[in-house]
Amino acid sequence: MKPFSKCEQCGDEHHIVLLEHKKENSIVVGFIQCPSCQHKTVYSVTTPHIRSLQKRIRTIRNQYGKAKRLKKAERLLAEYEKINDQIKMLMQPLIDHENNGINE
Ligand SMILES: [Zn+2]
Repeated sequence: MKPFSKCEQCGDEHHIVLLEHKKENSIVVGFIQCPSCQHKTVYSVTTPHIRSLQKRIRTIRNQYGKAKRLKKAERLLAEYEKINDQIKMLMQPLIDHENNGINE
């Protein structure tokens, strides 16, 4: 079952439809759009740098699944959390910025 979303603008409840918009400088904006009032909400913004970090995250997740020694697993987990925080920190101001302009 698809997740439901409630529009913060008109209160309409609907299935989430994820859309993507590619901008200049290889920036990709992920957003959802309300089918009722067309209000858009940005949920992710990625740059080449952020996408390379996300790739690193996937690699770590794979290695973590295969890690046999506890020491190694702990090290991978620490790195995973560090990069995850880094992605959030980089992405949040971009999301805020895109959200400001997307409905104009
Ligand atoms: Zn709406």
